[in-house]
Amino acid sequence: MGKQKASEDIRTQIKLERLRKHLEEVEEISMKWASQLTYQSILPPVLFLEGKPLYNHMLRKHLRKRALWKNYTEWEQRIRRIRELSETLFKKAQEEGLSRSDASPVVNAAFKERYFFFTPVFGSSDKEIIKANKSIVEGLVSLEEMAELGKEWDSMRALGEKMHELVFKAIRSSDILYPCQLCKQLWEDD
Ligand SMILES: [Zn+2]
Repeated sequence: MGKQKASEDIRTQIKLERLRKHLEEVEEISMKWASQLTYQSILPPVLFLEGKPLYNHMLRKHLRKRALWKNYTEWEQRIRRIRELSETLFKKAQEEGLSRSDASPVVNAAFKERYFFFTPVFGSSDKEIIKANKSIVEGLVSLEEMAELGKEWDSMRALGEKMHELVFKAIRSSDILYPCQLCKQLWEDD
């Protein structure tokens, strides 16, 4: 084997190693994302890909499932609607004097953070929050926004389950090997 051939082989090995690490990272980010899609919490959901253009690009290129991204668009819209509805309900609760000055700091903090409106569907493990939540929710339960909020949560959760499954399918499929911009750079760099 000539010297030139040997150094080319080494370069190829290094590039393959970099690419392997990159694909591992893609898988890791995908798993984090997938677990966020089905999480159960009293906290408002966070849009994992919001403000992360690189992650967005990597996942969209490597997880090539049309249904996944179609669902994701809808999921994002539902989360935005949930945020809006929570804000409206929060204001109404305040107008109706449901903010509780006698409540403990944990309840007050939860109320301030609008968590209460997420608990009717998701439930909370904190007994104190459940109790305070119940009385606040009872005052709001007849409102149209409350009914819509419940429906949005159900739809959002159903979408999350579907997407979770699709992410795992995409990771296992050989489509993950289609290159993103980063893959191309890794391969072209000398
Ligand atoms: Zn890539």
